Amino acid sequence: MDLPKLHRERAVDAVYAVLRQAIVSHGMKPGERLNVDELAAQLGVSLTPVRGAIQQLATEGLVEIRPRSGTFVASLTAQDLDETFRIRCALECLAVEDAVHNIDVGGLRKLRDLLKTLRKPVKSDDDRQMHERANLELHQVILDASGNRRLQEMYSALNAHIKIARIHASESGWATRLQDEQLEHEEIVAGLEARDAARTVKAMRKHVYRAKDDLLAALEEPANAE
Ligand SMILES: [Zn+2]
Repeated sequence: MDLPKLHRERAVDAVYAVLRQAIVSHGMKPGERLNVDELAAQLGVSLTPVRGAIQQLATEGLVEIRPRSGTFVASLTAQDLDETFRIRCALECLAVEDAVHNIDVGGLRKLRDLLKTLRKPVKSDDDRQMHERANLELHQVILDASGNRRLQEMYSALNAHIKIARIHASESGWATRLQDEQLEHEEIVAGLEARDAARTVKAMRKHVYRAKDDLLAALEEPANAE
């Protein structure tokens, strides 16, 4: 049995976490060139974990590796966002159609608990992180309840949450939309509880498209105009 070398694994993970945070928080700007040697020197590690981390960031769409040109922080355009959210909507609507029939009492209870967490006021960065985690989890519970593994894989490959985080990180109006979001989530959960597929799909479509429109508007904000 081949076991991974632990110290190396940890270095890759650590470099990955630092770079991911820098990109999501706009410490590194879209289009900025990543120099492997400089990053390794700055972080005090060898080239291998930096290359590994960059590879992983590229898989997630945060970094673009352009042959013969270099490695860059991926840009995030209105078109990227539009395409991502249209696919997200199709996948999540399909997921709720099945989840309406499949979700069990435990799943519904979990959703109600998450709604409670999401109702808490968001004042600090910690609140915000907790809110985003609960939001992600709510969508994940529904995807899991669909029982469709391929759908779940396609959804996770979209990396919609990373794109959302990149925009939220430099956006001012995020918290003002929490009320819309809460009402939409409530309606989705109520639809699932009523086992009403048409109602739940409608609520999910409204939720995802409203989020898309708001993110597109936020992308046009000066702080994001790079
Ligand atoms: Zn949501």
